[in-house]
Amino acid sequence: MRLTIDGRNVEAAEGMTILAAAKTAGIEIPTLCYLEGISDIGACRLCVVEVEGKNELATACNTKVKEGMVVQTASQKVIDARKTVLKLLLSNHNIDCFNCEKNGDCQLQKYCNEYDIDTTPYIGSRSLLECDVPKKDAHPFLSYDPSKCIYCQRCVQTCRVATGRRAIKLRRTGKYTIIDAPFGEDWEETRCESCGNCAQACPTGALTIKRRKNYRAWEVKRVRTTCPHCATGCQYDLIVKDNKIVDVEGADGPSNHNMVCVKGRSGSFDFVDHPDRVRHPLIKNKETGEFEQATWEEALDYVAKKFTELRDTYGGDSLAGFACARSANEDIYMLQKMVRTAFHTNNTDNCARVCHAPTVAGLATTLGSGAMTNTIEDITQKSDLILLVGSNPEHAHPVLGMQIRRAVHKGTKLIVVDPRDIDLAHAADVHLKLTPGTNVAFANGMMNI
Ligand code: SF4
Ligand code: SF4
Ligand code: SF4
Repeated sequence: MRLTIDGRNVEAAEGMTILAAAKTAGIEIPTLCYLEGISDIGACRLCVVEVEGKNELATACNTKVKEGMVVQTASQKVIDARKTVLKLLLSNHNIDCFNCEKNGDCQLQKYCNEYDIDTTPYIGSRSLLECDVPKKDAHPFLSYDPSKCIYCQRCVQTCRVATGRRAIKLRRTGKYTIIDAPFGEDWEETRCESCGNCAQACPTGALTIKRRKNYRAWEVKRVRTTCPHCATGCQYDLIVKDNKIVDVEGADGPSNHNMVCVKGRSGSFDFVDHPDRVRHPLIKNKETGEFEQATWEEALDYVAKKFTELRDTYGGDSLAGFACARSANEDIYMLQKMVRTAFHTNNTDNCARVCHAPTVAGLATTLGSGAMTNTIEDITQKSDLILLVGSNPEHAHPVLGMQIRRAVHKGTKLIVVDPRDIDLAHAADVHLKLTPGTNVAFANGMMNI
């Protein structure tokens, strides 16, 4: 389709929104509630644009392009409407930027600056509601402050659509719809799994990760890396202040698309600066039995000497090297290289072959390689049916579990074969609760059918 946006000729595919078409032409339209692929509810109305021939402004995030459409994204009418939207949002907002964790990283603040709004003539009716909706702060990692909420529903949509958890709800109280965040005293009884993806999606300081109060956006740098916890391989940014990791934010990696789980977000970096961490090589004093601090040169010379003595006295097969599953492929490669070239042995292995020995052997025998044979998208976006046998991805690989939940909510059938009542079993079309020990009979039965 051909249309005109701000006087430019733009080509767009049928079904595209004005927002997406404008983006392809390098025209940015401001949004607060929109999240690509997750939420296009058009609630904030900041993305309004003028469409020739229409009296009312259209929301660009959910209005589809049409052949010959003429769109203005920054006419005076549009700018005036956006200013009014921002003033109305501010009328219910506790403007406390100086103390706010999101100062410098808040999209409401950003757009108010861009549209030159620093105050509002309106008095918001929602402020009357605050006594009914107290701050929810009992959760160990997350906090919700309704006085800063703009009711954009990004958190609700993220929890509902992206993570498939549905722990944050919209609730009616009187004439208002409010955000029912699961971070009160009863947080442990809620469905929340503490992944924090809602806080990452929140455009304001309403729903935050508590550790954000320790830094401001301009004090930190980002370091892109891979989560070390499980094999999902989520990409995230370490947020670093004064050379210390202070937070984690999900990045758009092929396996996680900005999401992370509770392990990645809140359990993957505290140890780096933990006071109990061993920071120097230690060599045991044979006389006292105590470990004593050594330099790296002393420690490496000592181990190299001992390994060489063992190899020369008893042969290379007296030694072995075992790599940690949390190591990067490159480090594991270096370890096996050292074992083969310096130890003169092939006794080298990795935890992955212990934990996954049966799957590795089975996959290698049938398919030639003991590794995952499909992308996550093949499983969660291109399958009619998922057969889950003896696996609890919501615990073991939570971001994959989130994507399976999302697929099931979108209509993919799920069969869980597991003696345990894993959470996914409740969403399954069939839960086959095998008697432990009958796995082989199940596999044979399936092959027979
Ligand atoms: S932390 Fe995760 S599960 Fe809990 S409410 Fe937020 S998005 Fe939902
Ligand atoms: S808590 Fe944040 S994401 Fe949720 S509705 Fe309020 S402003 Fe939007
Ligand atoms: S699923 Fe969780 S633990 Fe696994 S890589 Fe992703 S963030 Fe890390």
